[in-house]
Amino acid sequence: MDLYEYQAKELFAKHGVPVFPGEVAETVEQARAAAERIGGPVVVKAQVKTGGRGKAGGVKLAQSPDEAAAAAEAILGLEIKGHRTRRVLVTAASEISEEYYVSFLVDRTNRSFLAMASAEGGVEIEQLAVERPEALAKVAVDPLAGLDRAHALEILRRGHFPDRVLDQAADVLVRLWETFVAEDASLVEVNPLVADPEDRVIALDGKVTLDANASFRQPAHAELADVAATDPLEVMAAEKDLNYVKLDGQVGIIGNGAGLVMSTLDVVAYAGERHGGVAPANFLDIGGGASADVMAAGLEVILADTDVRSVFVNVFGGITACDAVAEGIVQAFELLTARGESVDKPLVVRLDGNNATEGRRILDQAGLPGLIQVDTMDGAADKAAELAKAGV
Ligand code: GDP
Ligand code: MN
Repeated sequence: MDLYEYQAKELFAKHGVPVFPGEVAETVEQARAAAERIGGPVVVKAQVKTGGRGKAGGVKLAQSPDEAAAAAEAILGLEIKGHRTRRVLVTAASEISEEYYVSFLVDRTNRSFLAMASAEGGVEIEQLAVERPEALAKVAVDPLAGLDRAHALEILRRGHFPDRVLDQAADVLVRLWETFVAEDASLVEVNPLVADPEDRVIALDGKVTLDANASFRQPAHAELADVAATDPLEVMAAEKDLNYVKLDGQVGIIGNGAGLVMSTLDVVAYAGERHGGVAPANFLDIGGGASADVMAAGLEVILADTDVRSVFVNVFGGITACDAVAEGIVQAFELLTARGESVDKPLVVRLDGNNATEGRRILDQAGLPGLIQVDTMDGAADKAAELAKAGV
């Protein structure tokens, strides 16, 4: 999960990384009031989960509350690389004498962590890495040994940080490392880390990616999730612990195993072209050992999608054999009916693999309304697309 700048800076502050105080505003008037409270010059910054806001007109300096209001007026609603700005951060403006760059990230190739530092920050770091690689220090950090002050100093020296800010910058780097570890982040990046005219070192921007696999031990991170910007069906699926992604089409898809679901999307997309341009409505992987509960939860999410005209359940029996999956589908129908949520869209089921014959027999016997079995994946995809077209 990527965080907004203001959330990243809240985490920084929690771990003692110096940041300027700021307030988030959703309206022009809130921005004006925030600027009044902060006092003095402020910067109004678009809160979108993408970089390059400065270049796109999403960062504006304001000398007064009126100017802050005008800046917010210009920035709210602004689209930056496909992200619409719904909020701005109003924060005390600093005088900047120098802009640096520091980051920590997971280095998958080397199975380690990587620290990067450069005294030439503020610019696009990818560009710097290509054009002047010698200006960007890249130093491995052993996950077990961690990062001490001496190591931090070495990283900064290799990034050509000036001597006069080394002490302070090393403090900041150690605290950023603490943030990275304590918050289970896979990325912590500060661009720019600045020195003001008194050589105080401050994080002016912040980019943090949290590792969702650690969410079980980071209960506080749940409230950082951006529910408003997420599709409501995806929110519903996440609450049910489902691996679901909303797409634009009309054929709901459920499969067991990410690879199978990916190829199901392909065959449905091809079949859809033959049937007047219908397409997959979602990705949903219910996993290898799917129970009736998971099948019911999956069906519930897909049937709640008003774009869906037909559903394709594509199962390859493995550890959980087809008879168990068939029982799961039958129970899912019962669960949904008991909850008053009838299955009112045609369901095409393809069972193959372990105990496929038994699974098909169970579904035949259950005689579920609207359920059609097709034995091949291509045939089932074609049927689901045809039914979706008919239902449009
Ligand atoms: P980004 O473009 O999305 O990375 O947004 P940043 O937060 O990095 O801001 C872009 C640029 O705006 C920075 O590199 C600074 O040069 C400038 N900037 C941001 N905040 C301030 C501030 O408080 N004071 C001044 N003088 N410049 C700022
Ligand atoms: Mn930046």
